[in-house]
Amino acid sequence: MDDKSWSARAEEYSMYGFTDLPSVQRRGTIVLTHGEGPYVFDTEGRRWLDANSGLWNMVAGFDHKGLIEAAKAQYDRFPGYHAFFGRMSDQTVMLSEKLVEVSPFERGKVFYTNSGSEANDTMVKMLWFLHRAEGKPERRKILTRWNAYHGVTAVSASMTGKPYNEVFGLPLDGFIHLTCPHFWREGNPGESEAEFVQRLAAELEATIAREGADTIAGFFAEPVQGAGGVIPPAQGYFQAIQPILKRHGIPLISDEVICGFGRTGNTWGCQTYGFVPDAIISSKNLTAGLFPMGAVILGPELSDRLDAAIAPIEEFPHGFTASGHPVGCAIALKAINVVMNEGLAENVVKGAPRMEAGLRRILQKHENIGELRGVGYMWALEAVRNPETKEPFPGTLSVSERIANTCTDMGLICRPLGQSIVLCPPFILTDEQMDEMFDKLDGALAQVFDGLRAEGVI
Ligand code: PMP
Repeated sequence: MDDKSWSARAEEYSMYGFTDLPSVQRRGTIVLTHGEGPYVFDTEGRRWLDANSGLWNMVAGFDHKGLIEAAKAQYDRFPGYHAFFGRMSDQTVMLSEKLVEVSPFERGKVFYTNSGSEANDTMVKMLWFLHRAEGKPERRKILTRWNAYHGVTAVSASMTGKPYNEVFGLPLDGFIHLTCPHFWREGNPGESEAEFVQRLAAELEATIAREGADTIAGFFAEPVQGAGGVIPPAQGYFQAIQPILKRHGIPLISDEVICGFGRTGNTWGCQTYGFVPDAIISSKNLTAGLFPMGAVILGPELSDRLDAAIAPIEEFPHGFTASGHPVGCAIALKAINVVMNEGLAENVVKGAPRMEAGLRRILQKHENIGELRGVGYMWALEAVRNPETKEPFPGTLSVSERIANTCTDMGLICRPLGQSIVLCPPFILTDEQMDEMFDKLDGALAQVFDGLRAEGVI
């Protein structure tokens, strides 16, 4: 095996998720070995500034000593346990207390999973269980939005509003997708943002009327749709929809897998957008990416109702082997402290205007960038063929992939999502590193758009 390249070995034995395979065949696989701050290094010694924080999650960078020490210390103390049969680790107990303390809820309860997908699945099962126990077994449908990303398990993929799930025969029945609250793309000509929001509220009302409120189990929403292309909600969106959901007894679940723990400039995205959900889904930043872990954080009402529903059957028949893993919990406790009390969340608050200003300069330089959107440390630049009409580039040109690949060649990792380029750097980025990100992105955009002009596409 040794005479083969790392890339060839990867391709021979590893299956790739969410990867453009022709591009891998052309460009090879980048096999990473280690990181320093916001940089990652590969087997050939090449270095990239990872403006994606891995997958949004490595918010403290790739070598945070405090987090690594917390993990090592817990491995020394008690390296693994479960949370079944009336047993759980002390770290699990402490993390639940901490999560409720930092949540927007006065009180509540926490259930642990290994991922964001499983946390969403778990929440759906909780709602199905709850409604059945309360004598409403027909309350099973789940409302989400187009372009939402809630995960890849059969249920969370059904919640995800992306056409690619058709290849699996998904969504399952009973998963209903509403309009994505992206005013720039989805607003009608001549429609104001307020009118757009009213139209989406009316759509929700009409959907509930059509389906019957007593068939709907819950509504799930990311505060900012992350993997949909960083789409902050139209102004007033949550204020318009939440009263409708409340009136029909439909819980609102905030999927904070990306937005949670500082990414939008507050602890939770729901705080940034001024609403208090009935429950929160957390993962990724929860452990600053150092351990696979997710959590459902229930607010007081859902937590009380679930307790009451579980009481007669004396057991909630759900849980994962590694739910509440002591090492994951110890890392999460440390990560929450690092992000909230050691200046990382503050970096986002302070750095966001600088980030926006730098990206706005880039937007102004390149007329084929149609929109800059984002908040905190999550931003997207959307490429358009025609800036006036917002006509996208033909998908076959893979423009955002070309931009991302050119960035990669220049030593910057950023992510193509639809026609957008997404930037969601770690919270430890220095001003110099932020400038490096701007310079490389600017250079890549110039190169790709010059190429498209030469090809006569624009
Ligand atoms: N919800 C959101 C909002 C996400 O962004 C993601 C992952 N990108 C998930 C759920 C799924 O998390 P995981 O990949 O850990 O299953």
